[in-house]
Amino acid sequence: MPLHDFFPCLRFEIPESVRQALSRLRYNSMFYGVAVFRKDNAGHNFALNIPQPGVIFHRVSKLNFLGEDSPEESGFLFEVTFRADSRVAAYSKEELAGRILDGFETMDLAKREDFIDIDIRRVKYAYVIYDLTHRRNTDAVLGHLRSAGIPCCGRFAEFEYVNMDNVIERAMKLAASLNQEWTADE
Ligand SMILES: Cc1cc2nc3c(=O)[nH]c(=O)nc-3n(C[C@H](O)[C@H](O)[C@H](O)COP(=O)(O)OP(=O)(O)OC[C@H]3O[C@@H](n4cnc5c(N)ncnc54)[C@H](O)[C@@H]3O)c2cc1C
Repeated sequence: MPLHDFFPCLRFEIPESVRQALSRLRYNSMFYGVAVFRKDNAGHNFALNIPQPGVIFHRVSKLNFLGEDSPEESGFLFEVTFRADSRVAAYSKEELAGRILDGFETMDLAKREDFIDIDIRRVKYAYVIYDLTHRRNTDAVLGHLRSAGIPCCGRFAEFEYVNMDNVIERAMKLAASLNQEWTADE
């Protein structure tokens, strides 16, 4: 679980320097979901990264791409990155849906007249931000937990931008090393 949510669960004293380091670990949040259209204009492409600042999402992925040959509808996963203190964070679902449809039209990926439905979810912890103090602050926080006998594993548990494959690899390594440690203690 994310370090920011884990610390309030701890029942032992946390040094001020560690609390400060934790408060300096920065991250981006995300709105994501699925938008469905009767048809699309995205071509034979799976994922499109969109750097245009005027378009609210940074990536869309065509969900039918890996499955049906001629699906009757087109479903897109969209991802909208934001910070807690940004204008986007305060958007209602209706405003967001409008901006997302604007994005599909601006990029000529799909038309409003073909729109069927949309589902939007919010995830607080999405992307770790590697600012200049990331390493120092992360080491301070994880070092304190380690010294208290708490190893951490996972994207927001280690505060590293790792994907699923890497999290699984780290979990397997940690499990093996804990097994070894505990077997040696017996
Ligand atoms: C929209 C989106 C798209 C992504 N796409 C990809 C992709 O295409 N490929 C890829 O490899 N990765 C992708 N990722 C990243 C991937 O989801 C993460 O890297 C991965 O899930 C991290 O694994 P984890 O075990 O650290 O955390 P999680 O999978 O988030 O697991 C943490 C678990 O802890 C639980 N938890 C949290 N708080 C508590 C609590 N207080 N008590 C008990 N349980 C708690 C949560 O419910 C959750 O089940 C994507 C992420 C997002 C948000």
